[in-house]
Amino acid sequence: LQDRLRRPGTGMLDRLRRAQAADGRVDAEDLARAAGEFGWPVAAVTGSATYYADFAEGRRGRRHVRVCEGTSCFVSSRGEHIARLERALGVRLGERAADGSVSLQGVRCLGYCYDSPAVLDGELPASGETLGGLFGDPLAAQRRTRPGWVEPLKMRAADIPYVSAVDRPVVLAGLVGGEEPWAVWPSVVATGSPEKVISEVAASGLRGRGGAGFPVAKKWSMTAGEPAPRYVVGNGDEGDPGSYGDRLLMERDPHRILEGLALAGFAVGARHGLILVRSEYPTAAERLRAAVVEAREAGHLGERVHGSPVDFDVEIVVGAGSYVAGEETALLHALAGLRAAVRARPPYPTSHGFLGHPTAVNNVETLAAVPWIVRHGGAAYARLGHPDEPGTKLVCLSQRFRRPGVYEVEFGVPLRHLVEELGGGLREPYRLRAVQVGGPLGGFLTPNQLDLPLLSEPLAEAGAALGHASLVAVDSTVPGVAILRHAWAFGAAESCGACTPCRVGTRRGLELVERIREPAQAAAALADHHPLLEVLDVASLCAFGRGVSCAVRSLLRVYSDELHHTAPTSKGGE
Ligand code: SF4
Repeated sequence: LQDRLRRPGTGMLDRLRRAQAADGRVDAEDLARAAGEFGWPVAAVTGSATYYADFAEGRRGRRHVRVCEGTSCFVSSRGEHIARLERALGVRLGERAADGSVSLQGVRCLGYCYDSPAVLDGELPASGETLGGLFGDPLAAQRRTRPGWVEPLKMRAADIPYVSAVDRPVVLAGLVGGEEPWAVWPSVVATGSPEKVISEVAASGLRGRGGAGFPVAKKWSMTAGEPAPRYVVGNGDEGDPGSYGDRLLMERDPHRILEGLALAGFAVGARHGLILVRSEYPTAAERLRAAVVEAREAGHLGERVHGSPVDFDVEIVVGAGSYVAGEETALLHALAGLRAAVRARPPYPTSHGFLGHPTAVNNVETLAAVPWIVRHGGAAYARLGHPDEPGTKLVCLSQRFRRPGVYEVEFGVPLRHLVEELGGGLREPYRLRAVQVGGPLGGFLTPNQLDLPLLSEPLAEAGAALGHASLVAVDSTVPGVAILRHAWAFGAAESCGACTPCRVGTRRGLELVERIREPAQAAAALADHHPLLEVLDVASLCAFGRGVSCAVRSLLRVYSDELHHTAPTSKGGE
């Protein structure tokens, strides 16, 4: 595998995409040709082509529509939007019309969780009008009262509300307040030192914002201590259903991410940076690519940046549909064009990363915070938030809230403040039944648990997770068994398959939910969950299997009464 990784291959996913664009599919001839061009075994190319959802879904139609199966969209219609779309387009999910006119792909998720249910028609968010009024009655009515369905494309970063838990007028990551990107980079390359950049980031207490929470300065120091060549990677594979802050950052503020990546590259001594953007975010990829061109023209990127001895450039790589590609070892495989499978650690990417070389991988929100820290000092950043978790976090609220959106808040703010003050509670006529915190690998909390602070440890102790800090409101019209099935279905669909407990366990979990639907079998099926969840907890190779277990455990707790005493007899959604 290492041999294959060392061969150039970052263009493989684009190569397969071009083949698919020609006639809607990647066939055996395409695989052989791509393998020859890249010097890969055909089996390795076949592995990629059959792994990623974008290629494995089958032949595409001339019009390709992607519909969101994420949690917010599921809650908003319990899957009904998919059935309507199938009827309106005359094609089943995952299939192509016989005349080749249209194909329909299910995606978890499209990152429009504030405006569920979401559809991408080609590369544009679709409205009821452009899809021929397919969202008839309640959904279309909802849309008409919310003309902002395509409005997010016009949204500026400055429109993202900034809220301070302690009323400090401080702007982090420059989201509000108009701090221009690339403000510190020229002076850093002229007179700064990598040690100084790392020491400011260390003083800030900045931890990874993608979910794992690893100290950023420590990761950079470890990478800088390894032999060159070294790489820095921006993780723009925001796959968590419920999260869309990274998408807005990449679309609205791409230069800030690039400046953060450049500072990371300077700190670790890397000449090359890469950002992996998921294919479900075509506008984000387009704007990042445009920003790279602009940054080169302005002299921020390229050889001898601003006349200094520093060389640094960035490549934008588009993924091909895999949730697990957000895990850093899987992401490195995706950058190389291989299957985005997780590998065991150690060795860590800081010593064996992209093409086998030392690599620092950071989430794009993490990178966006770096320019502010370098400009204002780590100590200023560390004064924000909570002593255990300094700084701020983008928090995403889903469509069921009265005021869905992305809010930048300081760590430590109570969840109740997010739900009731910022979100305004649920829109009429819905009543809050549960809040999913931290995405599909996080957990569900009851309304009584909302006094918990937005901090990793208290959330973990309560059976949830900070994750990427999304809050999806689940209202009381959604049956517990339906949301439980949704959680297992996500696990079964997105498991990378590298380890048996997760690959098989998530499918067994889905089978158990089907048994819960039969009243006579419900009690036994619920009891059978526990040994299965234990196996996922102790034997999963990566956090995915443990996260699915965490989510399911929390659902069994939150919906305990309902699942035990009112086992439904209908399909109950999805
Ligand atoms: Fe892959 Fe799941 Fe195993 Fe992680 S736990 S390596 S996602 S199969």
